Amino acid sequence: VTPRTPFIAGNWKMNLDHLQAVAFVQKLHWTLKDAGHEQGRVEVGVFPPFTDLRTVQTLLDADKIPFALGAQDLSTHDSGAYTGEVSGAFLAKLDARYVIIGHSERREYHAEGDDVVAAKVQAALKHGLVPVICVGETLEQREESGPTAVSVAQLQAALANVPADADFVVAYEPVWAIGTGQVASPEQAQEVCAALRGVIAQTLGEDAAARTRVLYGGSVKAANIASFMREPDVDGALVGGASLVVDEFASIIRYQK
Ligand code: PEP
Repeated sequence: VTPRTPFIAGNWKMNLDHLQAVAFVQKLHWTLKDAGHEQGRVEVGVFPPFTDLRTVQTLLDADKIPFALGAQDLSTHDSGAYTGEVSGAFLAKLDARYVIIGHSERREYHAEGDDVVAAKVQAALKHGLVPVICVGETLEQREESGPTAVSVAQLQAALANVPADADFVVAYEPVWAIGTGQVASPEQAQEVCAALRGVIAQTLGEDAAARTRVLYGGSVKAANIASFMREPDVDGALVGGASLVVDEFASIIRYQK
């Protein structure tokens, strides 16, 4: 089994327009270069708003910047009368490799349930995109049903009809830790990430479980990333707020265990 390359993914949410995106990506690239960051040790992903994707793609390509590009959402449909939606086919044409699906902000503000998440996972795979499937419980749900039940059920639903050889990423993002500064402990992250790897093993087999990256997300910063990366079932981080600050995000990418 090839070791899982750590993945540090920056979810910009609705921040940075396309001009700010250029400055940010260039600065991040040069900050990592100046620090002597060893490329390839960690995969770096940036997930800008839709309107930035074309610009960021051009920049990554022109300057040979080794960041993967991802989108924050996609439509369940390929094309047609769906005003305001963005097709996975369009994202793939822009060289987006990843797409976030089921982020708690989509689940909460856009009422996306497990059925929509599962349909979006299918749409992503159909267009050759790698879904980053987000799962996680609220504080209330944690108190009611324990730490793993909600995430396990959400992942089981998302993986329905996914083939065993599919390429995807899972992100455990406890809702109570997102944007709150109330970070999960490494042990809490490990417990749920291990349970999620168990779901992958049961659903798609041991090979899929061994090669699939499971990330932690929720108030990750330079000061706490290493503690998560020491956990055996945490293969990286999905980073929100701290991915918008060049020096902070560069330090997260350059974590030392
Ligand atoms: C996120 O929204 O995916 C996230 C993890 O946000 P933050 O890092 O700001 O908590």
